[in-house]
Amino acid sequence: MLPEFDNTEIAFRYRNDAELRRARFLFSSMGSPFLTKIGMALTQFAIDWRLPVKGIIKSTIFNQFCGGETMQEAADTANVLGKYGVGVILDYGVEGKESEEEFDKAVPEFIKAIKYAASQKTIPFISLKVTGFARFALLEKIHAEGELSTAEREEWKRVQKRVDDICTEASLYNIMVLVDAEETWIQEPVNILTDAMMEKFNRKRVVIFNTFQMYCHGTLSYLRDALAKAEKKGYLLGAKLVRGAYMEKERARALEMDYPSPIQPDKASTDRDYNAAVLFCLENLSKLAVFIGTHNERSCMEAVKYMNAHHLQAGDKRVWFSQLFGMSDNISFNLANAGYNVAKYLPYGPVKDVLPYLMRRAQENTSVKGQTGRELSLINKEMTRRRLA
Ligand SMILES: Cc1cc2nc3c(=O)[nH]c(=O)nc-3n(C[C@H](O)[C@H](O)[C@H](O)COP(=O)(O)OP(=O)(O)OC[C@H]3O[C@@H](n4cnc5c(N)ncnc54)[C@H](O)[C@@H]3O)c2cc1C
Repeated sequence: MLPEFDNTEIAFRYRNDAELRRARFLFSSMGSPFLTKIGMALTQFAIDWRLPVKGIIKSTIFNQFCGGETMQEAADTANVLGKYGVGVILDYGVEGKESEEEFDKAVPEFIKAIKYAASQKTIPFISLKVTGFARFALLEKIHAEGELSTAEREEWKRVQKRVDDICTEASLYNIMVLVDAEETWIQEPVNILTDAMMEKFNRKRVVIFNTFQMYCHGTLSYLRDALAKAEKKGYLLGAKLVRGAYMEKERARALEMDYPSPIQPDKASTDRDYNAAVLFCLENLSKLAVFIGTHNERSCMEAVKYMNAHHLQAGDKRVWFSQLFGMSDNISFNLANAGYNVAKYLPYGPVKDVLPYLMRRAQENTSVKGQTGRELSLINKEMTRRRLA
């Protein structure tokens, strides 16, 4: 059965009227680049100066895009989504930490999340960022093939151990791990580490997924190479496909440092490679599992149509669809309703620590033309259906 992405009754059935109103207010506000810019600057200022703004952040943008401040709160949100067949990726969304002590402290948080996920039917994944366990500058130096000092080599070993400890636990408890992709100038060590984890844990089933950012013009061939490498070394590839979140930053850095931008020349090229990557993965399901992370309805529909045409079961365990919590519920809930595997990225953590994530969401949603326009029109449609508008 083909899902209908404009069925708002299914899309928003987990949201009560008040939540729908809040979502409309938020998406309308974020639609204005001016308001978003001011809001982001004021929020950062208020947090830096320890002004009492946590309550207002929490009841607005935080509740829209995050599962809660603690794992227990996130678990409650996961239970609500689970009622409608939508799973969750627990994402301990703390970012921007730089000390060894903080990196060490994060490991038991992730292990706690894995154990909790294993006790639930609707939490098949956790996600992690390598920058949650390593200094950015260290990753940058490894990426640039700089000579590491003895202390830095030890530091890198500790990073590897932290990630290995988490993956070991995940494998033991049968929970899959998505390793996020970040800026291209730290991606090499992230790939090295993730490949090593896939080689170790993806022997019989896919436990670890690396992320492929299709907004880079080299990624499609990198994906093909990654599969060839996995085959050669005898493991299954976990391929999480995204378009990429750091386009402006990537382009600005390339310009400033005078090197060719790694980003595709235009959106159409990114779309073409994204859809080609989805197709490539679906054609190679005997050797990999694919995680289609996108809010693009067309990319999701093309995947669904391919699966239908090739008699792949909607619930085939090697194919997952995913959207971020608070966005594109019309895709997630309608896909789940039609039997496809869906999991929402559900970040959680203290409000001040998830701010960089929230800022990215606000920025991403500033165009009324694009995603925000779509979210708003769907919310309005549902509010009319519920006779709220
Ligand atoms: C479940 C999930 C997990 C994610 N994990 C990651 C991650 O680990 N790392 C990461 O970087 N991002 C991640 N993202 C964010 C993702 O990369 C995109 O930024 C976001 O989802 C928007 O892309 P889209 O496919 O949803 O939608 P669309 O609206 O179809 O595409 C927007 C995207 O297209 C690209 N684009 C836009 N304009 C241009 C242009 N002029 N030229 C070239 N390309 C352009 C950009 O990547 C932009 O974000 C994740 C997203 C989801 C849903």
